[in-house]
Amino acid sequence: MERSLHDRDRVGVQDSVLLDNYRSDEAFLENLRKRFKENIIYTYIGNVLVSVNPYKQLPIYGQKTIEEYRNTHLIENPPHVYAITEAAYTSLIEEGCDQCILISGESGSGKTEASKKVLEYIAAVTDQRGQVQPVKEKLLQCNPVLEAFGNAKTTRNDNSSRFGKYMDIEFNNLGDPVGGNILNYLLEKSRVVSQSVGERNFHIFYQLLEGAEQELMDTLHLTRNVGYYNYISKAGKGSGDGMHDAQRMKEVCNAMTILGLTAREQGEILAIVASVLHLGNIDVTEEQGLAVLDNFAHIFAAAELLGCPENVLRSSLTHKTILARGDIVTTPLDKETAVYARDALAKAVYDRLFSWLVQRFNKSLQPQRKSRNRLMGILDIYGFEIFRHNSFEQFCINYCNEKLQQVFIKLTLQSEQEEYLKEGIEWEPVEYFDNNIIINLIEEKHKGIIPLLDEECLRPGETSDLTFLEKISEQLTQHKHFIDHKKADNKTKKKMSREEFVLVHYAGEVTYDVNGFLDKNNDLLFRDLREMMSSTTNTIARVLFPKSELESKKRPETAITQFKNSLNQLMSILMSKEPSYIRCIKPNDFKQAGVFSDDIIDHQVKYLGLMENLRVRRAGFAYRRHYEQFLQRYKSLCPRTWPKYEGTAKEGVRVLIQHLGYQPDEYRLGATKIFIRHAKTLFEIEDAFQSKK
Ligand code: ADP
Ligand code: MG
Repeated sequence: MERSLHDRDRVGVQDSVLLDNYRSDEAFLENLRKRFKENIIYTYIGNVLVSVNPYKQLPIYGQKTIEEYRNTHLIENPPHVYAITEAAYTSLIEEGCDQCILISGESGSGKTEASKKVLEYIAAVTDQRGQVQPVKEKLLQCNPVLEAFGNAKTTRNDNSSRFGKYMDIEFNNLGDPVGGNILNYLLEKSRVVSQSVGERNFHIFYQLLEGAEQELMDTLHLTRNVGYYNYISKAGKGSGDGMHDAQRMKEVCNAMTILGLTAREQGEILAIVASVLHLGNIDVTEEQGLAVLDNFAHIFAAAELLGCPENVLRSSLTHKTILARGDIVTTPLDKETAVYARDALAKAVYDRLFSWLVQRFNKSLQPQRKSRNRLMGILDIYGFEIFRHNSFEQFCINYCNEKLQQVFIKLTLQSEQEEYLKEGIEWEPVEYFDNNIIINLIEEKHKGIIPLLDEECLRPGETSDLTFLEKISEQLTQHKHFIDHKKADNKTKKKMSREEFVLVHYAGEVTYDVNGFLDKNNDLLFRDLREMMSSTTNTIARVLFPKSELESKKRPETAITQFKNSLNQLMSILMSKEPSYIRCIKPNDFKQAGVFSDDIIDHQVKYLGLMENLRVRRAGFAYRRHYEQFLQRYKSLCPRTWPKYEGTAKEGVRVLIQHLGYQPDEYRLGATKIFIRHAKTLFEIEDAFQSKK
């Protein structure tokens, strides 16, 4: 069995650590390229899995392959996402360590697919007696629903996740999954009301229109004509080709049922989705400077689906009530503000519905018995984004990636150091770029971009996106990683307007347009609308807008501060677990199979820090293995250890390598592992082993 797996992977080296010329980017790339051309998409850097998106179905998954990886050690088989998962699972079971699998890479690189393979593997190898089948089924069914509501077609990825997801699976002491919990991060809700050219809104809108039974369509007052609805019509003809929207709709409903959502809940959820489409079709016109709503059919439909009186919806969309020192003051809105209010309502309703779904799933995934279970987390979160036009959303996403890079740096370098220490081995540190300086630029108290943005949002008086830009320019102009128009050299200046600033991220320069920063950060929904929503008869809609929120005297946290807090919480979750890494790479910009674009891949290799990772791995000792595993694998190479060595594994290894003629400088014997300095040494022994098989 093992032989057949290895026979399938004899191209280049399976572990980049084994490259002779490990300092060379070109050698690293060449190895990936050679393997990719042979449909071998996985390669290791030590215990980090590098995955290059093949953009085609490969026969490397499924039950048969899962069996081949089951109960094997990382080094026994060719690199695979199953191998990484098996290793994490084994550590969870045998050492009782909580695990997390961190999947990173840019949009379209294969993160979400990888996360699904992890889950698939876990589902396949656990619970052989079929006692927790319902839990496994539920864990697997979260994805289709979350993808329907949280994924969209973008220029980069037909199924792009527009939210961050961290999913914990809980295991009992038999190693079977008994529950789960999902944390969701910052849905890109601006997409609800507008999309870029060539992109779509969230899948669920199209799925509903394509796949709902006629009876449901009538209840929701919908027609099947995508082009008729303002919020989704821009996607254009043919944008749904190959998306299987109708089929997906059935799967989504089926998944919700498995997850325990009642028919009533499902009805209310879809009513909310439909209400968003209706809201988008409410026209706002102007009479004598004041907003007037048009298109009554949609006002009625939205009001009915949300469960509020039609006149309340209408007046809430055209008026603004403020409580000022105990007085209630209501003013009519102008057209522009009414459009803003309408869109804000649509976004808020959808965004909160999404979070509600996650909470609802979590309720359904609660383990029956609460005991101290072990956890395996899977993080699939948006990758670094550099668009032609970058806004508040990209700022948040890239900030998040800076934080994750910090975790990667801390955990890889730190754990490396700790391991040498623990095993009693000397080590020489490696230089690497610590992106902490950029994180400080973004979040440092009183001085960073986030505090300055919040200050500008909370400050009374005339503030605007431009005053915010002025303020950060003033504060940060000295900072190496911040460039504004004044500071830019001629080349950069040409590319940027006066409303933009550049951050030099660890992954490259990104130009941000400040327009919309204040609004998006304030995330304002007028009181009238919140009040209306808190007393709707659609029970889900109602709980999305709790009355307590209205009564609270405290100013709600800004969007970026909420995000920052949830990220910091995520960081501490991740840091408390044993990490495994999957670094995903997108091979080209055309979603095409078989195309390996050197420059694009080289760029990702650089900013993912893979070369540094490789150097760190090689700096001290390129390879380390537990004595038991090392002996087990290579014992056939020495008559005194074959077929079995009678002493301890450590002694056996000593005998074995003496027989092989290892020089003293070549290796160290640590407390539990052998450390081998040069990959070449391992290469030779591995070759000997392979040819003897
Ligand atoms: P990301 O989550 O990183 O944005 P996805 O995981 O959604 O990217 O992958 C984008 C697309 O690439 C998928 O829809 C699929 O078509 C293809 N893809 C990704 N990984 C694989 C894989 N291992 N095998 C085949 N196709 C893949
Ligand atoms: Mg994704």
